Amino acid sequence: MTLSRLRVDALVVGGGIAGMQAALDLADQGYQVVLVEKQASIGGKMIALSKVFPTLDCCSCITTPKMSAVAHHPNIQLLTYCDIQAIHQNGASYVADVLKKPRYVDEELCTGCRQCEYACPIDLPNPFDMNLGAYRAVRVPFSTAVPQKAVLDIDNCLLCGKCEQACPVSAIDFTQTPQPLEIEAQAIVLATGYAITSKAAKQEYGAGRLPNVVDGLTVERLLAPTGPYGHVLRPSDGKEPGSIAYVQCAGSRDQTLGVEYCSRVCCMYAIKQAMLLSGALPMADITIYYMDIRTFGKGYEQFYQNAQAMGIQFVKGKVARITEDAEHNPIVRVELIDEGSRIVEQVHDLVVLSVGMLPGYNPQAMYGVPIAGDGFVKIPAPNMAPTVTDRAGIFVTGTASGPMDIVDSIMTAGAAASEAAAYLQERYVPAAVPSEKELVHV
Ligand SMILES: Cc1cc2nc3c(=O)[nH]c(=O)nc-3n(C[C@H](O)[C@H](O)[C@H](O)COP(=O)(O)OP(=O)(O)OC[C@H]3O[C@@H](n4cnc5c(N)ncnc54)[C@H](O)[C@@H]3O)c2cc1C
Ligand code: SF4
Ligand code: SF4
Repeated sequence: MTLSRLRVDALVVGGGIAGMQAALDLADQGYQVVLVEKQASIGGKMIALSKVFPTLDCCSCITTPKMSAVAHHPNIQLLTYCDIQAIHQNGASYVADVLKKPRYVDEELCTGCRQCEYACPIDLPNPFDMNLGAYRAVRVPFSTAVPQKAVLDIDNCLLCGKCEQACPVSAIDFTQTPQPLEIEAQAIVLATGYAITSKAAKQEYGAGRLPNVVDGLTVERLLAPTGPYGHVLRPSDGKEPGSIAYVQCAGSRDQTLGVEYCSRVCCMYAIKQAMLLSGALPMADITIYYMDIRTFGKGYEQFYQNAQAMGIQFVKGKVARITEDAEHNPIVRVELIDEGSRIVEQVHDLVVLSVGMLPGYNPQAMYGVPIAGDGFVKIPAPNMAPTVTDRAGIFVTGTASGPMDIVDSIMTAGAAASEAAAYLQERYVPAAVPSEKELVHV
């Protein structure tokens, strides 16, 4: 087994929108960058979204060019399907021990033609579609994946060899083993993103057992043109929902779950999805149960007002419990705050939990970067340097540092790249104090 070693200026960990933007901003300034992503494709959560607030741009249309720019940039080496296993300090630089996981597909040979996928007899729940659709044991991860290379799930493979026979370039390779490599970098940008609150966390909302109580990311896939059904259908029986309710703060601002903060994006994504659903299902009634609506960004309040004008109902009410009837229709028990705290039960066809954001990864043990009380990376001077961590040379961007939307993820990516560039510049070209003789007096 040969150990490859790469020496670069910056290592970016995580290939969501924040990591991709930070890598591009550094690479455009001439720095050599390695971007390491644990999944088989870059794109993060953003590539799975339908449209984005507040512009309602098609998410795939705006994310795919960034993914492609990362893959083709001469100063970026993209390593997907890799796990960073350890980080050591070597003088003033960092050395990352990385394990490249076997795809069982030769990346050099694979053209992404998907013949292997069509031949494979094994269907598995597709996590990209929030497990509503299916994919094969060997597949290109999704239609706009970067790189467009297949990956084979050896744990669920029959070893029947059908993919091997179908592949026109003999790229299937069952003999692949994990490949270690070392990356030495002067600076690190952490862009490890977020996870969502599990539906199972809240007993009062059915603990994940009610089939027609779904989360916001599931609705993104139902609305996406590349989604599992090509139409909005509810999971239990494939019926088109005529009445849809959103439950806000389902996993944020909730001391019982230990999540005391506001996740900042849920009000806006609920409003966005409600607008998109009323386009996809013009006859559907859509209700948003909220404690207060937080539309903090540029153009966001107008977006909210547009949704009200479209007929989406905003009901100020605390949802206490969700149960279901015999047809799996969710029953929402809610205290109507504007009606003297009257308690009512409303039956809907589909309920969407506006789940919140949790940290996607805890870098404390491996990177020596402390985390704050909320579990996200600690920022010692959030007002003055919002992307600088407690450890010299390690920066953070996007939702790895706290809940934020795409606009702020991109802005913090630019900020983290500038901080990293300044740090690299300081070390490479120490600012020499000019002697009196060198000073030019005008
Ligand atoms: C339902 C929903 C709808 C939304 N809609 C909108 C919207 O319309 N507009 C908007 O502005 N925002 C929206 N958002 C928010 C948006 O998704 C985020 O702001 C954005 O995707 C954050 O990007 P990120 O790069 O920080 O994180 P992520 O997208 O989570 O990317 C992190 C990446 O890092 C990788 N990674 C994690 N750990 C490691 C590791 N240890 N090693 C290597 N790789 C690792 C992950 O695999 C992932 O690819 C929505 C959020 C939700 C939940
Ligand atoms: S060998 Fe495995 S991956 Fe290939 S076709 Fe058979 S089951 Fe699918
Ligand atoms: S492994 Fe072969 S058949 Fe599968 S996508 Fe790649 S080139 Fe096509």
